[in-house]
Amino acid sequence: MRVPVSELAYDSRKINRPEEAIFFALVAARDGHDFIDDAYQRGVKNFIISFVPEFLSDLSDVNIFLVTDPLGALQVIAAAHRKKFHYPILGITGSNGKSIVKAWLFQLLAADKNVYQSPKSYNSQLGVALSLWSLTDTCDIALIEAGISQPGEMKHLEKMIQPDIGILTNIGKAHDQNFEDSHQKLREKLTLFQQCNTIIAGSAYVKAEELAAGAKLVTWGDQPTDYLRLIDQNTQGTRTHLTVELTGKRHHFEIPFSDQASIENLLICITTMSHIGYPIAIIKERIGVLRPLEMRLQLKKGIANTSVIDDSYSNDIASLRISLDFLSQQNQHQRRTLILSEMEGLGLDKKLQEELIDLINKSQLSRLIWVGQEYKWLAELSTGRLLIFSDTEQLLDELPHLEFKEESILVKGARRFQFERVVKRLSVRSHGTVLEINLNAIANNLMVYRSLLPKQVKLMAMVKAFSYGSGSFEIANLLQFSKVDYLTVAFADEGVDLRTNGITLPIMVLSPDQETFQSLLQHRLEPEIYSLKILDDFLTFLDEERQTEFPIHLKLDTGMHRLGFLPAEIDLLTERLRDRNEIKIKSVFTHLVASGDPLQDEYTRQQIQQYIACVERIEDTLGYHFIRHVANTSAIARLPEAHFDMVRLGIGLYGIDMQNVFPSLQQVSRLKTTVTQVKHLPAGQTIGYDRKGLLKKNSQIATVKIGYADGYSRRFGEGVGAMRIQGQLVPTVGNICMDMCMLDVTGLDVVAGDEVEVFPDILAAANAIHTIPYELLVNVSNRVKRIYYYE
Ligand SMILES: *Cc1c(COP(=O)(O)O)cnc(C)c1O
Repeated sequence: MRVPVSELAYDSRKINRPEEAIFFALVAARDGHDFIDDAYQRGVKNFIISFVPEFLSDLSDVNIFLVTDPLGALQVIAAAHRKKFHYPILGITGSNGKSIVKAWLFQLLAADKNVYQSPKSYNSQLGVALSLWSLTDTCDIALIEAGISQPGEMKHLEKMIQPDIGILTNIGKAHDQNFEDSHQKLREKLTLFQQCNTIIAGSAYVKAEELAAGAKLVTWGDQPTDYLRLIDQNTQGTRTHLTVELTGKRHHFEIPFSDQASIENLLICITTMSHIGYPIAIIKERIGVLRPLEMRLQLKKGIANTSVIDDSYSNDIASLRISLDFLSQQNQHQRRTLILSEMEGLGLDKKLQEELIDLINKSQLSRLIWVGQEYKWLAELSTGRLLIFSDTEQLLDELPHLEFKEESILVKGARRFQFERVVKRLSVRSHGTVLEINLNAIANNLMVYRSLLPKQVKLMAMVKAFSYGSGSFEIANLLQFSKVDYLTVAFADEGVDLRTNGITLPIMVLSPDQETFQSLLQHRLEPEIYSLKILDDFLTFLDEERQTEFPIHLKLDTGMHRLGFLPAEIDLLTERLRDRNEIKIKSVFTHLVASGDPLQDEYTRQQIQQYIACVERIEDTLGYHFIRHVANTSAIARLPEAHFDMVRLGIGLYGIDMQNVFPSLQQVSRLKTTVTQVKHLPAGQTIGYDRKGLLKKNSQIATVKIGYADGYSRRFGEGVGAMRIQGQLVPTVGNICMDMCMLDVTGLDVVAGDEVEVFPDILAAANAIHTIPYELLVNVSNRVKRIYYYE
């Protein structure tokens, strides 16, 4: 059977054209072979897999390619696709700044070239392959980002990308856990450039001897031998004047940034542009209007109970697809609006038009707001309402009349459309303190813990207390999409909130009470039953409501001594449960007291033994099986014997590793605030209430917009707490106020508006005030706006 292939699929939930897709069964935290069935159900007929599941071998309408390494096969296909194109391909790698340099070069070159850039953070073994697969013959130049975390990975990326020009960004001095030293890390990165004609790098990072023979090294730095030599830099406010020597002449650049990382990234961009032939005058002009980029897509609370997905920095088909995927994962609203701008080259490119039409038709939009040329085919799209505006100005004028209400709005536009102005009007403002939540990090952490569990063990995600402070449906949408088995909340109203926002996963409620029975029933929330009293009350209620087989969860107290049936109560309990068909026991569980503490392992084992004994008695009496679960985060990691049928993942999902053993966990939330005012004060003055902060020397004091009403405990006052500003840790001075506090920023060049990270190290912060990170997370007050990132 011959079929054209247009799509390389690896996630059965994200297949756009099944009839033209090949499904690769990749093995990561989950084995892609488990999803072959799902992919087939969705219409996929081509499979590259490393073993053939039984059901597939009986089918005659499929093509199967049996390989030992499906990811390797995908990479070979990507490499072959890349070879078809002869325009320059720039490979970008380094420790920091890769994505920024890529996105800036895109902005700088797109004015006169058709530029392809790898989407978002697609820089891994899989991401690079998918990026290359999207190359088309309509481009003039391509920017491909390459990222590695382990030795040996770059050679695979190099084989695929085969860059003509290599760009090395900042190399951090520290070496990552996975590399012996920083030198090994650098050598590994340079592997990408093995066959490049030209390599652009800082002379401080690389010497010509370290490169493959024959490659031309084009450097920037402060040496007379550098291609671009930085002579002087002078920062005023947010702008910096650079004096550089380039091709023998001195030039002045004014750039709209003041931080060292941005300056370095810009030097790389200037060097690259000059090297590929742009005259200085053009480089100057384009650099002068560069903007800082928010490269990740953001989910924000919008006006009139909307959710605004802000992806307003670029627009191409690959990144639009990612954003639409994200839009489709939003269950909190029925209606979905897409505000979309023109794409570069769309007018002439038939194939691009077709792809776009296809993508939009599949997205089930209630409304499409198009900004750009009025193409005929727009009217034929099978979407809800269609509105067309010729430019952003016109859209902004009409915005008040477009009735945005209770819907998800994706704002996706090319840079020049300045859709950030649209987002600003649509989103709810914050007062300068925000909690940033990285949804990719949650997905990553979920994978980390899943990879520790045997396949058949189910996973319950704890989303109680507003998902440990990080959000409700925003987190639950992601968990539902990631196919966790259960969610758990503390109280019924938290569960109701998830249900009314479209969450359909089973939900367990830890602390139900009589007043909430009705809402449990109404919203299919499953209570934890922890005492004979609540059991009796619930049975009576179910009787009155004529319910049968209502799902409940029994909690056993094996040592926590909080809620639950003691072992001595099991007989009474089973007596009560015998022949009661009002309920169905979905699970029986217990909670470990000290699963993170090796010194208590003896006690933990006793808890587990007791649990097993009780469960067996219950099962014997009732005569059916239920899910058994014991392990919280620490137990998942430390105690495989506690895994049973399901685990309850809490704090680890949110990126906090109490035992400090998982380098692969990612930080999920970042609390950020801003500087409101800076003062220079002489020694002897005091800062804040009650004259607590006495200055011992002349000092510079910054006031920031966070206080104990936001969840920054008063116990952090008088130097106990430290925040990070411009990369430096600075202590608090004086007492913490209700809405503000003061920092000692002596010696730093801090101005009003500067960003401040409140908990640079949350474990250290928790220790400083004798608590645990859980408390700091859940205390971040509701008035602090949450912004969700996804890339
Ligand atoms: C909160 C909670 C968990 C999760 O604990 P972590 O230490 O955050 O993983 C598990 N089980 C129960 C009963 C809980 O209340």
